[in-house]
Amino acid sequence: MTAYSLGKLLYEGKAKRVHATDQPDLVAVEYKDDATAFNALKKAQLAGKGRLNCQISALLFEALAQAGIPTHYLGLGQGNHAGNWMLARPVRVIPVEVVIRNVAAGSLCKQLPVEPGTPLDPPLLDLYYKDDAYGDPLLTDARLQRLGLVTPDQRRQLEQQARAVNGVLVSLFDSVDLRLVDFKIELGLAADQQMVVADEISPDTCRLWDGAAGDSQDRILDKDRFRQDLGGVVEAYGEVLKRLQGVCPEPRVYG
Ligand code: UDP
Repeated sequence: MTAYSLGKLLYEGKAKRVHATDQPDLVAVEYKDDATAFNALKKAQLAGKGRLNCQISALLFEALAQAGIPTHYLGLGQGNHAGNWMLARPVRVIPVEVVIRNVAAGSLCKQLPVEPGTPLDPPLLDLYYKDDAYGDPLLTDARLQRLGLVTPDQRRQLEQQARAVNGVLVSLFDSVDLRLVDFKIELGLAADQQMVVADEISPDTCRLWDGAAGDSQDRILDKDRFRQDLGGVVEAYGEVLKRLQGVCPEPRVYG
């Protein structure tokens, strides 16, 4: 039994499905086991990944809420929705991927002469246009303005919120000996126009390095294991979940 019934499928992405419910102010988010990389050129099914990302996201959303950062998250599913479902406020997602980088890795090192592993202080904030057909290109302020994706005020708020999220997550991960190298978040506007953190925050959207594992590839506990065919993807995500369970508030169950 759930405190809501499912409505139509509103959106299906690469890693999640968002369903309407019988309540206008509630959507149900189902995390899938599908793994994709390189704009979906590489695909696989990883049993258990959906549940792990759902549980990790719930813990991180709880930690953000505790720090006063608003998110779309309302609680985990229960009954036949236990495990890989969470309930959320419906939001209009701003089609801008906000990436914060604390350490150089990934596309940054392919595009600029920056050595992987270089600490970035202050953290670098990059905005990308969220559109697979265009390959999620890097945005400049002028391009952002040209597309009219956000007002100047929302642009400031977006950056402020992303930096606040980074502050919370860096110290949280640090407390469990994980280094938050970089991550992507999406922000959305709720019905009352409040800007909230939406989508997910998980090893699919963060780079996380185990502080105890030296410089070897064993330290990688995120989607780079899938991108680089390192194996042990689900085990790595499981390790992240285990560590976070000790330091985040227990996720609330919806309903
Ligand atoms: N990221 C993401 N979705 C995207 C692009 C990037 O979640 O569509 C995350 C990625 O997992 C990493 C961070 O954002 O933690 C920075 O990614 P980068 O720009 O280095 O891109 P990559 O080369 O990893 O695709």
